[in-house]
Amino acid sequence: MIEKVLIANRGEIALRIHRACHEMGIKTVAVHSTADESAMHVRLADESVCIGPPPSTDSYLNIPAIISAAEITGADAIHPGYGFLSESAKFAEIIEKHDIKFIGPTADHINLMGDKISAKAAVQKAGIPVVPGSDGEVREFKDAAIVAGKIGYPVIVKAASGGGGRGMKIVHDESELELAVSSAKREAAVSFGDGTVYLEKFLTTPRHIEIQVLADTHGNVVHLGERDCSLQRRHQKILEESPSPALNSEGRDKIGEVCRKAVKSIGYRGAGTIEFLYENGEFYFIEMNTRLQVEHPVTEMITGIDLVREQIRIADGLPLNFKQEDIKFSGHAIECRINAEDPFTFMPSPGQVTDYHTPGGLDVRVDSGLYTRYKIPPHYDSMIAKLIVHGKTRNECLMRLRRSLEEYVIDGIKTTIPLHQKLIREDDFINGDYNIHWLEKYLDSLLDE
Ligand code: ADP
Repeated sequence: MIEKVLIANRGEIALRIHRACHEMGIKTVAVHSTADESAMHVRLADESVCIGPPPSTDSYLNIPAIISAAEITGADAIHPGYGFLSESAKFAEIIEKHDIKFIGPTADHINLMGDKISAKAAVQKAGIPVVPGSDGEVREFKDAAIVAGKIGYPVIVKAASGGGGRGMKIVHDESELELAVSSAKREAAVSFGDGTVYLEKFLTTPRHIEIQVLADTHGNVVHLGERDCSLQRRHQKILEESPSPALNSEGRDKIGEVCRKAVKSIGYRGAGTIEFLYENGEFYFIEMNTRLQVEHPVTEMITGIDLVREQIRIADGLPLNFKQEDIKFSGHAIECRINAEDPFTFMPSPGQVTDYHTPGGLDVRVDSGLYTRYKIPPHYDSMIAKLIVHGKTRNECLMRLRRSLEEYVIDGIKTTIPLHQKLIREDDFINGDYNIHWLEKYLDSLLDE
């Protein structure tokens, strides 16, 4: 049985994992950089180990330091959270070589899904529909031109090892293709250490809808419905909701079942998310994330299932104690990602929080490591909090979100709360009528005002 978990992460997600562990009677070890000595996840953990200086390459990405911390403290499992080392097959492999449990999938599955070309091929074989595009890598401009001619413009050149919304180039016609392919290859080589690129049809009005799955090591697989993450800026999610305003329960069951079967057929273990673009009633796979997602709480709010608890139980070799038919989707949930940034220019705004007050009340959840006088370090991602609310209906959820955003006080720095307050009052959002391009157009229109 897992008795002590080392949390190889920081911020709200480290705290989130700590909470699940303590509710299961499991002790926690926080690791932290010198910039995070006073962080909440460090203060609450049973033990903590400093693993290096502020830059994440020297601390949160420092595998030898993290393994040493696990050995010194006698942790028997490591949870990677999201970001940092969560999708490093090498990290998973090294952990297991040290006889420590990795709370996540096998290194082989991380590898398979980490390369978007092999991921696409594997899920297609398992019955999942994919975005039309090149059959694997495109090496030369002339190969790209043949594929683009076949699928039709616009197309998008994507890096096989890309992530975080980076490494993508939209091409509107053949005159732009040669430069896009060569620059995408060059940039991918620099950013991801792998210059492999591929081509996809660029969908012009899709929603981003993803399916959450859980698989144990006994062959049981369930899906936990979808999350609609179409509100994006620079391919990065800003607000997520479940259910999707675009899907009914029949549609959910259908795509959920396709994903459940595919995940079972590839022998996957742990929590995973299958991401799709959804246009004109059709789903098109884009990638699978082999880790916990930032937006996992919206699924927890409508299913009542604690995903981190399930991840830990799976890593412990326990079977899921519910079946697909036991999962009930109840009401509606929305998550707002709150960043330490100017709400309209998105300029980072780290610094000291001078006053802090969180919203509360029925069905309101705040996942954040903030507290009064906490100093947000400038070295890491700017997301500082997630506000997640639930309601019996989407409308009730929206009203609750409005009043929760009004109550939330984070003084001393700029945050994206005013942006959320504004955008949830827009008719298109209220009507659920938006796609992946909506937010960027909306932000442009605000600049013109
Ligand atoms: P990453 O791993 O960087 O997050 P994804 O492949 O998941 O990359 O894509 C991120 C986002 O980029 C999608 O949610 C969508 O907004 C956009 N995108 C990716 N592929 C396409 C496509 N073929 N057509 C239109 N938009 C796309």
